[in-house]
Amino acid sequence: MSTGVTRPAIGDWRTLEELGALQDEQLPRTLAAAARSPFYRARHRGQTPMDRAELQDCPLTTKQDLRDQYPFGLLAVERRALATYHESSGTGGVPTSSYYTADDWHDLTERYARKWVGIDASDTFLVRTPYALMITGHLGHAAARMRGATVVPGDNRSLAMPYARVVRVLHDLDVTLTWSLPTDPLLWAAAAERVGLRPSTDFPALRALFVAGEPLTPARRSRISEIWGVPVVEEYGSTETGSLAGECPDGRLHLWADRVIFEVYDPASATTRPAGRGQLVVTPLYREAMPLLRYNIEDEVELSYAACGCGWQLPTVRVLGRAGAGFPVGTAVVTQAVLEELVFSLPLDYGVMFWRARAEPDRLLIQIEVVDRYRSAAASALATAVGRVYDVDVDVTPLPPGGLVPTQVLTNSPDVVKPRSLFGAGEDWGKALLYH
Ligand SMILES: [Zn+2]
Repeated sequence: MSTGVTRPAIGDWRTLEELGALQDEQLPRTLAAAARSPFYRARHRGQTPMDRAELQDCPLTTKQDLRDQYPFGLLAVERRALATYHESSGTGGVPTSSYYTADDWHDLTERYARKWVGIDASDTFLVRTPYALMITGHLGHAAARMRGATVVPGDNRSLAMPYARVVRVLHDLDVTLTWSLPTDPLLWAAAAERVGLRPSTDFPALRALFVAGEPLTPARRSRISEIWGVPVVEEYGSTETGSLAGECPDGRLHLWADRVIFEVYDPASATTRPAGRGQLVVTPLYREAMPLLRYNIEDEVELSYAACGCGWQLPTVRVLGRAGAGFPVGTAVVTQAVLEELVFSLPLDYGVMFWRARAEPDRLLIQIEVVDRYRSAAASALATAVGRVYDVDVDVTPLPPGGLVPTQVLTNSPDVVKPRSLFGAGEDWGKALLYH
C-alpha cells in the first residue's frame, strides 16, 4: 500500500520553524493512521486527536501498552500489507512486537542511511548486529543495499560467525564499513592481534565503524577509534522505532525531527516538555503499519535545540540510558559510565580493552586485562584515577590477556554442520539431528 508521501531530506528546511511546519504538515496523516489502530480507537473511544494541541492531551503510550497489545493490537493496516515482523529483546516476560510495511521500510532505511561518512556502491558493509527477530541487522542491511553497497551479513548471535571469522572477513574482503555494538570492535581487535594482525595498519580498507545498542562514553569511543584508526559513528534507536538519531560531522547525535516529533517526559511532575532532561517520548510521523502516538521510550536523555556547528537544523540529544543507575560502595554510588571513562582514559600503550568490576559493600573490586609489561603501571594508574572520583577502597587486579575474554572465544572457528540421521560404523551418532 503506497501512500505516495514524499519524505523530507536533510537540507529541505532551513530553520526550526520550517522544521515544525514539516511536522505539522505530516501530522494529520499520522493521526489518521492511528485512528485505524484498534488500540488507539479503543483508547480514544473514536475521538482520535485531530491536531497537535489535541495530541498533547493524549496519554503517553507505554512499553506496557505495547506488551498488552501483543502481537497485533496496534496493527493499522491489513495483515497482507506487512513486510516484516519484529520483537524487541526484552529480559523475559511478554515480547514487544513491531511491524512495518514496505513504505515504512523506506522511511526506516532513509533515516539509517543518513551517515555523515556516507554509504555508497564502493562500500563493503559488514552487518554484525542481530537478524533474529530484532530490526537492527535488517536495518543496516537494507540501508546499505539501498545505497548500492555490498552487504556481508554477519550477525552477532550466530554460531556461524565467531570472532576469528569476523577478522578473516574484515581483512580478506576489504570491508569498509561495519555495524555493531561498540564492544564488538574491541573484541575484533583482540581477535586480530591473536592472529598477528594489527587493527590500525592491517585493515587499510576500513573507513568507519557504525555502532549502537550500548551506552558509550567519550573515552571508550575515542579508544575504539584510536585502535582501528577510523571514526566511530554512533546511532540511536530502538526496534519499535528504528533509527531516532544519528551523528553529524561534529560528532553530536541529532534527532531525526523531520520524521518524528520528540518530547521529554518528567516522571516526577508527570509533564512533558519540548526539550531538557527526562525520558524520551516519540511520535513517528511516517508510520503505516504500527502508528505510535507519544510513545515513551523510557531512555533518560537530554534534548537541546542549541545550534550545532554542523549547521543541521535538528535538535541534539545526549542519551544517558539507564547509565545513571549505580551500585553503592560504602557511602558512594559507583556507575558503569564513570568507571568506563576511567578505564579507557588509561594510556593506549597499556592495551586495556576489557574490564569488570564488582561493588562490594565496603570496597570496589576491579579486574582489567593487561599485558605483563604494564601490569603494575595500569593497576596503580586506575586505582589512583578511581580514588580521585570516589571515596572508596578500591582493589584493581591485573589479569593476563585471556583472563576476562578467553583466548579460545577469540580464536575458535567451530564447524557449523547440517542435521544428519545416518552414521557410519564407528562414527559418533550422539549429535544426530542436532546441528549446533
Ligand atoms: Zn551537529
